[in-house]
Amino acid sequence: MLKKQTVSVVTFGCQMNEYDSSKIKGILKNHNFPIIEDYKKADVILINTCAVREKSEHKVFSLIGRLLLIKKKRNLVIGVGGCSAEVSKDYLLKHFPALDIIFTPENYPKIAQFVENALKGQRSIHEIIEDNEEVVVESMFEECGASACISIMKGCDNNCAYCIVPQARGAEISRRPETIFKEIELALKSGVKEIILLGQNVNSYQFKDITFPQLLDEVAKIDGIKRLRFVTSHPKDVSDELIHVIKQNRNICRNIHLPVQSGSDATLKRMNRGYTYGHYREIISKFKAAIPEITFSTDMIVGFPQETEEDFEKTFQAVKDINFEGIYLFKYSVRQGTDAEKMDDDVTPKEKQRRFDLILNYQREMVLKKNKSLEGKIVNVLVTDFSKKDKHKLCGRTENSKAVNFNSNGEVNINDVVDVRILAGFPNSLEGEIVKNN
Ligand code: SF4
Repeated sequence: MLKKQTVSVVTFGCQMNEYDSSKIKGILKNHNFPIIEDYKKADVILINTCAVREKSEHKVFSLIGRLLLIKKKRNLVIGVGGCSAEVSKDYLLKHFPALDIIFTPENYPKIAQFVENALKGQRSIHEIIEDNEEVVVESMFEECGASACISIMKGCDNNCAYCIVPQARGAEISRRPETIFKEIELALKSGVKEIILLGQNVNSYQFKDITFPQLLDEVAKIDGIKRLRFVTSHPKDVSDELIHVIKQNRNICRNIHLPVQSGSDATLKRMNRGYTYGHYREIISKFKAAIPEITFSTDMIVGFPQETEEDFEKTFQAVKDINFEGIYLFKYSVRQGTDAEKMDDDVTPKEKQRRFDLILNYQREMVLKKNKSLEGKIVNVLVTDFSKKDKHKLCGRTENSKAVNFNSNGEVNINDVVDVRILAGFPNSLEGEIVKNN
């Protein structure tokens, strides 16, 4: 039999792209293409791109440029998929005419055919096909480890002023529950213990009359799921029913990622987020009243156009008030094609940096305090790997995603869920010792 050419998939960006890349790899494996990690050695390189920030897209373009130089010296097929393939297709065609494949998620069922064609010298530059064909790929979770991401929807119907996702991923489409359940079953068969339901705005999931809280409740009841998470939630769509479902199902992690973006109503309005800080605060209070141990992580942008010192102070106050477990903090930078591009980006880079540093330093101190306060306590850990610093130790994550390194008793395996006594808390991790296997 003729040896098949090797394929490598390079992934940029978010968990949704990681999920899509697993699917692409699974489909190609089913067509007997060997998948390799080191893209420099591959015969076919597929780049799954991210266009959320201009900086990330520039990284993608620079990689394509470098690969096209290699393509001049040896046989190499280069394909580009993901967000850039949708929002920057014309740019890609104009500036990189030697690209062999441009594909979108709708093209996944045909990806093996595109690669075969490209190997024969035929280009596949594809229009967006709205056929919504669902692909379930048996092997896509084989290398997942302890945790698997499952997409429950694609696209987004919101129009946050700074965000390019609705243009990149299109309108919101919720996947069929049967397909979601099938993928979860495959993930569990591969040894996965934690399921992360993914969507740009999971709370607005709706398939016929099935809403997100109903779907979450059904998923939580599947045997074998030790931990269940979901990202991303939009505050305007969080319901009392969702809080109730989380309370009722102990395997849903007591740590919710709920992007606040700003603590100022004026800024939230310009961002077109559709809620006030007061509303956000009310959701937090409801969660805490129902589930006292619950914690939150968030996304925040500082230096959004026309953010005054007073607006920023409100955001800083929100950080102090809510005491987040983690913050994904960003300095605003303009993204072409968004509504915010038309606004005056009037906060100077120096001022953006100052605001960023104020929140970051405060948050670091708070996290260290929290980590130190765990010393002597027992936490539940999902074992994910060997520790990077010391291969004799294992590492894992607590329910609220804190990294824990710990000495094993020799009976613990990766993917196990164990109790660990915390011996020391550091700025970014915890150190502990095993107490018992669960
Ligand atoms: S909810 Fe807003 S920030 Fe999130 S993907 Fe949709 S438009 Fe972008």
